[in-house]
Amino acid sequence: MSELYGGIEAGGTKFVCAVGHGPHDLREVRFPTTTPQETIARAVDFFRAFPTLRAVGIGSFGPLEPRLDAPTYGHITTTPKPGWRGFDFVGAIRRGLGVPVAFDTDVNAAAWGEHRWGAAQDVRTFLYLTVGTGIGGGAVIAGSLHHGLGHPEMGHLLLPHDRQADPFPGTCPYHGDCWEGLASGPAIQSRWAAPADTLPADHPAWDLEARYLALGLVNLILAYAPQRIILGGGVMNQAHLYPRVRREVQTLLHGYLAHAELTASDFIVPPGLGAQAGVLGALALAMESDAGRS
Ligand code: ADP
Ligand code: ZN
Repeated sequence: MSELYGGIEAGGTKFVCAVGHGPHDLREVRFPTTTPQETIARAVDFFRAFPTLRAVGIGSFGPLEPRLDAPTYGHITTTPKPGWRGFDFVGAIRRGLGVPVAFDTDVNAAAWGEHRWGAAQDVRTFLYLTVGTGIGGGAVIAGSLHHGLGHPEMGHLLLPHDRQADPFPGTCPYHGDCWEGLASGPAIQSRWAAPADTLPADHPAWDLEARYLALGLVNLILAYAPQRIILGGGVMNQAHLYPRVRREVQTLLHGYLAHAELTASDFIVPPGLGAQAGVLGALALAMESDAGRS
């Protein structure tokens, strides 16, 4: 198989570009996200070294326009990230490489990667969430990536916030104490005046974090009826959070839902593909868009 596919995971701080056909033969590079011109030029240079490239998939930070019939399809829309607002991402990659380009959010791409090769191969309705610099969620519903009015923005769910117990106002520039404003990595750092990765496992930060993560997850469980939830991102490097979050979810559901799957240890899990979920999902999108054409 000499034909190759490309994947780009475009993050706010770094780009991951890779070629291959799946986890078994992935070749990848990582570099920092700077200006669109400089960053896209680096990505194009990497892919040009592979003349048999058939298609490229992109999983990007957003907000972005994923709907094929929208005039701004393939653009980053309202990001505050300097230089990227309104950027025609798909157009730039297509012009640079002359191959078809598939496009979705970073978290939808990661969900798709997990569905094809990772921790969600055996379920058709599930969520992928990242808890890192922000909180983001992607959804596969009945075997398809979920879009609607643009794409989901699960990180900005509004949760009950007991200001007596936790007076921290939150970090979201739009909402203050939305989910991301209360529970992202920077929110933890700002609340406790120490980077999240320096707080020991017995620090009170983590019970509060588990509580906020569970509050958001319970709302999502009730809204989407997922068969599994994959929780990734830098904050989830604190592996002790998984059992705490599972416990809090049960406490909050309070026995309302009777499905045995909900209490199983494989209901809320880490990504099976680790840090490669996003770029592999982008690769899968490229492979499938190509299969759709021929
Ligand atoms: P991004 O969201 O930018 O794609 P990450 O998912 O790696 O990147 O998230 C980065 C955030 O994760 C940082 O803000 C940091 O607060 C947090 N983080 C990274 N490593 C750890 C760790 N070991 N424990 C707790 N928080 C961490
Ligand atoms: Zn918000």
